[in-house]
Amino acid sequence: PPRTAGVAEDRLAAFLADETARFERENPRSKEALQRGAQSYLGGVPMHWMKDWPSPFPLVAAEAQGARLTDLDGHRLDDFCLGDTGSMFGHSPAPVARAIRRQARQGLTYMLPTEATFEAGQLLNRTFGDFRWQVALTATDANRFALRVARAVTGRRKVLVFNGCYHGTVDDTMVMLENGRTRARPGLVGMVADLASKAVAVEFNDVAGVEAALATGEIAAILTEPVMTNSCMVLPEAGFHDALRTLSRRYGAVLILDETHTLSSGLGGYGRVHSLSPDILVVGKCVAGGTPTAVWGLTPDLGARFAAYNATRPAGHSGMGTTLSANPMQFACLCATLSEVMTPEAYAHMERGAKRLAKGLAAAIARVGAPWHVVRVGARVEFICAPGPLRNGTEAAAAHQPRLEGAVHLGLLNRGSLIAPFHNMMLVSPMTRTRQIDRLIAAFDAILTDLFA
Ligand code: PMP
Repeated sequence: PPRTAGVAEDRLAAFLADETARFERENPRSKEALQRGAQSYLGGVPMHWMKDWPSPFPLVAAEAQGARLTDLDGHRLDDFCLGDTGSMFGHSPAPVARAIRRQARQGLTYMLPTEATFEAGQLLNRTFGDFRWQVALTATDANRFALRVARAVTGRRKVLVFNGCYHGTVDDTMVMLENGRTRARPGLVGMVADLASKAVAVEFNDVAGVEAALATGEIAAILTEPVMTNSCMVLPEAGFHDALRTLSRRYGAVLILDETHTLSSGLGGYGRVHSLSPDILVVGKCVAGGTPTAVWGLTPDLGARFAAYNATRPAGHSGMGTTLSANPMQFACLCATLSEVMTPEAYAHMERGAKRLAKGLAAAIARVGAPWHVVRVGARVEFICAPGPLRNGTEAAAAHQPRLEGAVHLGLLNRGSLIAPFHNMMLVSPMTRTRQIDRLIAAFDAILTDLFA
């Protein structure tokens, strides 16, 4: 009989039917709230990604605390999605909640710096290294602005990204490799520009491909995650990051490291843990404890080059910044997160828990003999429904099994564990308990028993 990643199609169909029926049966209040209130939203949800959860309809959340989320039907879910990394340090960390309460009485946005602004700057340098920072609301914006600086200082046009990458909804990065050529991704809505004139896609771990692209002299920047976390989870091969650094210097391209997800690696992110030296560092999502903030920083050297460029720039819009960016609430939350939440002790707990989780999932996979594997980057764990390791975005795309993965996600949700949609990602926060991890492992094991029966 036909199989998907080792699972017989008829088993998968039966499992999906059972789990879908169970979800419908057990979530009447979520369903009713959506039926009552969804009409005022385009497509029924306030942000269309919410339709992409692998359940017949999205859960409606009631509240969340620590690593637990409660839905309208009163299920207390172990949350390993954590807002897809926005809440990697747990929901409403106490120091952040206190900072919000304090700032809430003192004004929410003024387009002026505060004393906390300067405290946050010191903390950013202490945490991430010596950079000259700017503050944005989203990692998408931070990447967009970083790319502008890179183009400005190099006078070049193109960004080099890796096939299968994701850096937010930055148009220029929305390209893919097809038969060795760069083209726009087919699903883009309302796209007019020819993205291949602004970007080049190369396979991750392909040093020769990177060098060939750089040798055209058109590349302003290499924009990469330290680990490809948005394409299953593809680890850099030994020497890959060193090669990116050496080649980007040789060919005069700016090296931008997007640590938005790999902040899971340890204090200061993957680059700090592994001694990388980017020209621009980008961190978003959880950097201010779950409130909308991203930071991007230039090395002092690049900062000086940008200042020189700025001195010659005609007056007028720069194309960077947004009105609410760098507001006082962001600095209150940044200070609280960097000083009291993102601690060595927190990371030690995350690392320990994630190790336990990865080991438990791998054991379940081995027990049923599934041709799957598990990858971990610090607190971030992913199961992949194919043998590993994967080397690049093309291999990751081939490994992706949306229907099977959706079935596992739904099965986990029905058993009390929420994991991230779009990938098979699980995060262990400083507030995640061992028993939550063990429940997730047991649920995963039970699901595999069922699928591989
Ligand atoms: N960079 C990376 C590596 C990401 O994974 C994401 C979002 N998944 C972003 C940037 C964009 O973040 P945001 O959607 O908050 O702008």
